[in-house]
Amino acid sequence: MTENSAELRDAAPLVALRGVNKHYGALHVLQDIDLEIAQGEVVVLIGPSGSGKSTLCRTINRLETIDSGSIEVDGKPLPAEGRELARLRAQVGMVFQSFNLFSHKTVLENVVLAQVKVGKVAKAEAEKTARELLERVGVGAQADKYPSQLSGGQQQRVAIARALAMNPKVMLFDEPTSALDPEMVNEVLEVMRSLATRGMTMVVVTHEMGFARSAANRVLFMADGKIVEENTPDAFFTAPRTDRAKDFLSKIL
Ligand code: ADP
Ligand code: MG
Repeated sequence: MTENSAELRDAAPLVALRGVNKHYGALHVLQDIDLEIAQGEVVVLIGPSGSGKSTLCRTINRLETIDSGSIEVDGKPLPAEGRELARLRAQVGMVFQSFNLFSHKTVLENVVLAQVKVGKVAKAEAEKTARELLERVGVGAQADKYPSQLSGGQQQRVAIARALAMNPKVMLFDEPTSALDPEMVNEVLEVMRSLATRGMTMVVVTHEMGFARSAANRVLFMADGKIVEENTPDAFFTAPRTDRAKDFLSKIL
């Protein structure tokens, strides 16, 4: 890590949430969220189950709508629908806990598809990009297999390659290693670390505190729909300020 968040944040934010509120019926799931993420910044989002981490991530590529406030990516408000929305989803890559690959398509086809359909890239070029990316995440040899023939760690790396193929401005990871057998967690975290090192802007929901400590510029702690604490990883893990964060850390560390 070469820069800290304060240095990165001198420039205009790549992602900006201002006064964001969302309800599910009576549940106020996101409460006045203000958050700016700088180009190249790696933000780790942690907090107890049900605190709104996934919902927050999903609002950033408009998988969820918001009730009030605003969200901008690269200075532009999120488009509501149509081709603009598809383009936004390409710019904001998302990797889920469940890998969500197309099971009836090969690994290569999984990484080619959106490039051709959404990105309007020629098939040959899309395949070239796909092979390079699969190589980069260490699954080049699996290109012609189907997802079910791969381990969970391999499938998740394919999912990362698929998101990267769209040349996203920011990548959202929602507990990308939670569904993996323990021996596969590191191979996925390694790919994420290398992305961070290459300057990718990332929002990562994770319980992997080793990753947070080594790769994050900033840790946000969420509870009950609010960001209740934010700090550098070192400061957060050694000296959490709120009782909620202290209590949470005492349970997971
Ligand atoms: P986290 O990712 O931090 O565990 P979530 O964002 O998934 O939290 O959920 C926050 C709260 O919103 C939880 O109480 C959850 O049950 C509720 N919730 C999430 N999605 C929905 C939905 N589609 N409809 C109703 N309630 C939801
Ligand atoms: Mg979640």
